[in-house]
Amino acid sequence: MNAQYDVVVVGGGHAGIEATHAAWKLGVKTAMLTMDINAIGRMSCNPAVGGVAKGQIVRDIDALGGLMGLLTDKAGIQFRMLNMSKGPAVWGPRAQCDMKYYSEIAREVITNLPGLSVIQGELAAFERMADGRLELTLLNGDRYVTRALVVTSGTFLASKMFTGLETSIGGRVGEPSADKLSECLAFNGIALRRLKTGTPSRLDPDSIDFNECDVQRGDDVAWPMSDRHVAETVPGRDADYFWGDALNKFVRNDCVCWITRTNIKTHDILRSGFKDSPMFSGRIHGKGPRYCPSIEDKINRFGDRDGHQLFLEPEQADIGRVYINGFSSSLPADIQLAAIHTIPGLTRARVLQIGYAVEYDSVDATQLYPTFECKKVPGLYFAGQVCGTSGYEEAAGQGLLAGINAALKIKGEGPFILGRSDSYLGVMADDLTNILLDEPYRMFTSRAEYRLFLRSDNAETRLKERAHEIGMISDSDYADWKHRLDLMDAARKRLAEESATPDQANIILASGGQALASERCRWINVLRRPGIDPELFFRTALPDMTLARRDQWFMYAEEIYAGFFDRQAREIDDQKKMEAVRLPENLDYMQVTAISIESRQRLNAHKPLTLGQASRVPGVRPADITVLAHWLENR
Ligand SMILES: Cc1cc2nc3c(=O)[nH]c(=O)nc-3n(C[C@H](O)[C@H](O)[C@H](O)COP(=O)(O)OP(=O)(O)OC[C@H]3O[C@@H](n4cnc5c(N)ncnc54)[C@H](O)[C@@H]3O)c2cc1C
Repeated sequence: MNAQYDVVVVGGGHAGIEATHAAWKLGVKTAMLTMDINAIGRMSCNPAVGGVAKGQIVRDIDALGGLMGLLTDKAGIQFRMLNMSKGPAVWGPRAQCDMKYYSEIAREVITNLPGLSVIQGELAAFERMADGRLELTLLNGDRYVTRALVVTSGTFLASKMFTGLETSIGGRVGEPSADKLSECLAFNGIALRRLKTGTPSRLDPDSIDFNECDVQRGDDVAWPMSDRHVAETVPGRDADYFWGDALNKFVRNDCVCWITRTNIKTHDILRSGFKDSPMFSGRIHGKGPRYCPSIEDKINRFGDRDGHQLFLEPEQADIGRVYINGFSSSLPADIQLAAIHTIPGLTRARVLQIGYAVEYDSVDATQLYPTFECKKVPGLYFAGQVCGTSGYEEAAGQGLLAGINAALKIKGEGPFILGRSDSYLGVMADDLTNILLDEPYRMFTSRAEYRLFLRSDNAETRLKERAHEIGMISDSDYADWKHRLDLMDAARKRLAEESATPDQANIILASGGQALASERCRWINVLRRPGIDPELFFRTALPDMTLARRDQWFMYAEEIYAGFFDRQAREIDDQKKMEAVRLPENLDYMQVTAISIESRQRLNAHKPLTLGQASRVPGVRPADITVLAHWLENR
């Protein structure tokens, strides 16, 4: 008899880890099926997690009970909050990680989840059985049966790697391609398209002259990615949660990165290899990520620049290998090497792994519901790079949502869908399932209409309640959060009632370059002044209260943005009303003759699920949405 599961997750990458953990945490019988157990949590490209918008995603994942923030804090070796010179809405926490350790602890966590099965093997095909379940066949002939299948196959579907004129089969250096699964998806009528991504060379640190480079250090005080640094117990399970006390530690923040630059000579050498570039010669058909271009693409597009900044990032705490961030390339190896040798600090660099590009099949995600379930094959979910995204964080976020939704469906509970005003995860799920992409999607703060609400400091306020409702957050974690909320309420009340002397206020106002006070003023009015140092503020205003550092910054951000919130809250309300109007899936928009032909055609092609989604279908006119709303009411 074949082993039977509620949820099988295919893939042990960043999407697979979150999907597996979420389904397991929600109490359904779960298995992870992956080609190589040792590759669980492997970072294919840069040894870092987070950044602007991506860091907010990690904070969202953490607030929803996911793993990425916890893993990053454990494996992090340098933490920086990016964009600190701008407003809190666009700050992005980022951590340089020891990538070997990241993968080790991810594997340890997954393989120790009580009751979870981890199967090493390659999924070759699936078939729907008469009872609606899916029968899985592995390449070695083993079979399993599952009620839901979450495919998180990353860059591995029918994948090819390129360096200059050399081509090889594989999804990542040293790892095979999953060709059979790609064929099976096409056989099931799922539309696929080719995308590509690339990675730079890795260098031997002993061959780099770091004196020629600028040093980049972490923040003086690190911002951890996770807010959950306490042991927790999973509801309904006997075993203590696997973290135990291990995370009650200060994050490590002592590693440095280095900065150097390409120059005209580097560009000339790279240009001499363009004729053998798989990208320019048309041997790669897939589109690459626009905002993460290869060095040859940058030179081709911005040819007049005299140099491009590069970051030399250690892959491990004891350095191991050095990753050249900004120098991704698939040019011939001799060209890459010669170009590297023109860069300050790298003139004698030894290359341990040459840069390459990978081209792979991905799924057109407009074939999915916002739960990441496939419209054509019920019970089949996709998440991660296979849905056309790029980046660990985007992959992890989708994995979390797909894993949660697969488990909730098995349990007979309603879907878990986040809105565009709740989280970056909601923005991403909506974008991916609504807009036909022709290039890899990565998250930017500019994709979010309500980014003043979607900050890294308020992920808990936005998401913790909902995570607790579905069981992703334990009661003890939730109680801990409630206690913090109570403390903040008490603090806010005191700040509104108590006042500062001019001397007290002026120390803080001076920290933000603000006009000084000449008379007593309420503390809350001091907190509302942009640019002040919130930590200095709370030390001075409420020396007897111990508020978490994140909560101090959260209260500051809430005050400085208060004026904008009222306006945005009204917009969000209108948006939510539109999201609540469901559109019949089989509606033929050609019947709605009062709207333009172009809008009708686009709506017919997209078949949006709600009026809100319809309003975001590219090319559909706002006036037509108003007409459609009336048409629906009067139908
Ligand atoms: C060469 C390269 C360069 C990259 N460059 C960038 C970049 O510049 N910027 C960026 O943001 N991101 C980049 N990435 C992407 C980044 O690595 C991914 O976004 C991220 O790892 C995606 O996570 P994932 O979980 O979706 O897939 P992956 O991390 O790729 O994991 C996929 C998992 O699925 C497993 N698998 C696949 N098929 C099967 C099957 N049939 N049966 C069983 N298991 C299967 C694999 O073994 C693997 O464990 C790059 C990736 C590669 C390979």
